[in-house]
Amino acid sequence: MTLSAKSQDLLDRRAKLLGPNVSTFYDEPIHVVKGEGVWLWDADGRKYLDCYNNVPHVGHCNPRVVEAIHRQASTLNVHTRYLHEGILDYVERLTSTFDDSLSTAIMTCTGSEANDIALRMATAVTGKRGVIATDATYHGNTTAVSQLSRSNVPGTGIGDHVRFVPAPDSYRPLGSEGGMAHAELFAEKLREEIEALEKSEYGFSAFILCPFFLNEAFPDLPQGWLKSAFDAARKAGGLIICDEVQPGFGRLGSHFWGHQKQGVMPDIVTMGKPMANGHPVGAVVTQTDIIAAFRKSFRYFNTFGGNPVSCAAAMAVLDELQDRSLMDNAHTVGAYAKQRLLDLQEKHEQIGDVRGSGLVFGAELVLDRGTKEPATSYANKLVNEMRQRGIILSKLGRHYNMLKIRPPMPFSRENADLLFDHLDEVLASLPMDAPS
Ligand code: PMP
Repeated sequence: MTLSAKSQDLLDRRAKLLGPNVSTFYDEPIHVVKGEGVWLWDADGRKYLDCYNNVPHVGHCNPRVVEAIHRQASTLNVHTRYLHEGILDYVERLTSTFDDSLSTAIMTCTGSEANDIALRMATAVTGKRGVIATDATYHGNTTAVSQLSRSNVPGTGIGDHVRFVPAPDSYRPLGSEGGMAHAELFAEKLREEIEALEKSEYGFSAFILCPFFLNEAFPDLPQGWLKSAFDAARKAGGLIICDEVQPGFGRLGSHFWGHQKQGVMPDIVTMGKPMANGHPVGAVVTQTDIIAAFRKSFRYFNTFGGNPVSCAAAMAVLDELQDRSLMDNAHTVGAYAKQRLLDLQEKHEQIGDVRGSGLVFGAELVLDRGTKEPATSYANKLVNEMRQRGIILSKLGRHYNMLKIRPPMPFSRENADLLFDHLDEVLASLPMDAPS
């Protein structure tokens, strides 16, 4: 590692001031000082292509978002116990992207808060507490939602009211058969966990999932794959929560929301990250009867959620997405990128599988295509080598061997070419690990 003195000093101060459990990216973390569009700069003036960050959804330091924040912050910022059109105009516009039944919202500051509220809504409606999640995901950091996430240290805090079903994996499907047979097995697992909860003191209140399973290495699932699981949850009287923090806001290219791509209808949708381009905004969108049941059970108030500055920033993101046709851009550039990855797969044995939709795509790296043994350590080396070449991406999934490429939405074909030209060279030059 050849860290500069300044970077080493920042690392030391982080350890001292922020505590030991605060992770950084890369063996040699980057000291970023500036961003613009799909680019980041470090303290030495070096430029990086950002193929990873989904929070600056419409581009780093997007001028329209910056201007909206500045304009509203210099006019008024206040909590939501006063009348203000900002939150109403925004919720009206946001809910217009959903099915008519999802017409009402609670604004929050984070995705974690949104998921926390969604669980409380499910309890308010069903009178039960049991939750089912997929087993390799992340839904946030409050006490309640951290129990659904695999970042929990095993044995410390997962409550008995939480049960897990195996996250779908199209490359290594349950029962080894893919497609709809896999979907039926997934639904069967869900039914088993529902039954176990119903027999317990908790009962079954909610099934929470990312409808694109993005943190779980975004398996390739045909439209309708989730239908049997949704039917099973509904039949048992539970609510379905779609966590759209990752796939929402047009990222998938074909649909504005992940559940729309799957062709299924959740009862509650949660969102955050890309919503206001880095300004902390999240939301829960649901049906009027569900929000009414929640409001009856809890006197919910959020000091910062839905404040005029946050709503102005979030509205500017929707304006940018629309005026610059960024979902269409995700569709065309994403299709081009996926093809380039498929071409690389022809050349490089390490690429076992290529998946993605719109501007989230990646390749699963394996030590052997026959056994599909995950190339976890190789993926880590590759990501670090790409960083040295000025390309920012990461890895994810159960085995951390899936390249995670999820750039800001203005990502272009030229940007994709730069990324894949480097990736091609790294795949050709980085020595492969031996299979075990
Ligand atoms: N849900 C998902 C799917 C996420 O990926 C994240 C954040 N990575 C969250 C919820 C939590 O969002 P936040 O960090 O804004 O609380």
